Amino acid sequence: MITEDSFKRRVSYLRLSVTDRCNLRCRYCMPKGKIQFFSSDELLRLEELKRLLKIFRDLGVCKVRLTGGEPLLRLELESILKEVIALGIRDVSLTTNGVTLSKRIPSLIAAGLTRINISLDTFNKERFFNITGSDSLNSVLRGIEDSIAAGLTPVKINMVVMRNINLDEVEDFVAFAKNHPVEVRFLEVMPTANNFEGTSSLTHDNFVSVEEIKERVEQRAALIPEEFSGSVAKVFKIKEGIGKIGFISPISNHFCGSCNRIRLNARGILKTCLHGPDSANLRLALRQGASDQDLKVVIRNALLLKPEEHFIRPDHYLSQHLQMSQVGG
Ligand code: SAM
Ligand code: SF4
Repeated sequence: MITEDSFKRRVSYLRLSVTDRCNLRCRYCMPKGKIQFFSSDELLRLEELKRLLKIFRDLGVCKVRLTGGEPLLRLELESILKEVIALGIRDVSLTTNGVTLSKRIPSLIAAGLTRINISLDTFNKERFFNITGSDSLNSVLRGIEDSIAAGLTPVKINMVVMRNINLDEVEDFVAFAKNHPVEVRFLEVMPTANNFEGTSSLTHDNFVSVEEIKERVEQRAALIPEEFSGSVAKVFKIKEGIGKIGFISPISNHFCGSCNRIRLNARGILKTCLHGPDSANLRLALRQGASDQDLKVVIRNALLLKPEEHFIRPDHYLSQHLQMSQVGG
């Protein structure tokens, strides 16, 4: 059964945050010392997650991304992955910072993972520390290499591009995509409720539009557009290279009109829009004894209130609601 929102958008893609904890402190997501973590009894237990996944599948979800916080910190990640696949949801992926990825690749593949997104904003050790608060760049690079070697396909690299921080490395990422079988995706940095309101060193001045990033890329590589793949990224093959380049523009050219996504955080809070308020508390409903049918009604009602679009723009660059590390991007 396909579930539509009030604007006739078919909602079929669930982004599931399995933990709000992280081993990095990226300055655009979870700046040091500013985060209140969920308490352990607030977190959805494995059995609760499994029940909700089945309900979402029944409502038409056919694509799931596991995210976080850092999803590899959840030791039950492989069990969650297996459950998604056992429910018949074949399109399943994982977004990770890659720090502890290498040693988990065999168990993730055994659980059914075939593709992966790894976040990396710089190839420079000092900058990596400056952006993430950690000196684990080499572990992330190893995670990327090992993912390629293990045959995960595609391996996508997410780079959040920030002026005065890593914009000058766009060319290095293009070179990486030329020489490796990966898709490098350049992302516009989004304002979040815990960083652009005075609690971190990032400001609107750090924002770079996809248009500007693309101009830089095209000075280094001829791009051949790919057919629309259903993803929010505009994807291009590199004419003289083995990899691909993708651009994601949530701010300068938002894709709300075709948004098919909903998000469930590790506490069981449903969000129908990344930049909107919480839409429903499924954990509470579950623990108060709601039946599957009741839960479907709660989810459908929340979907009917999915906003038509978000209102963040390059010239209106503020977010009231988004705690990125809790929702998972
Ligand atoms: N910890 C994992 C990781 O970093 O890949 C998964 C969670 S993270 C919130 C998911 C993605 O969101 C990452 O690619 C990260 O770079 C991106 N992200 C986080 N904060 C962002 C922001 N303010 N603007 C744009 N992308 C952001
Ligand atoms: Fe952690 Fe990912 Fe957020 Fe960085 S972007 S702090 S790795 S959740």
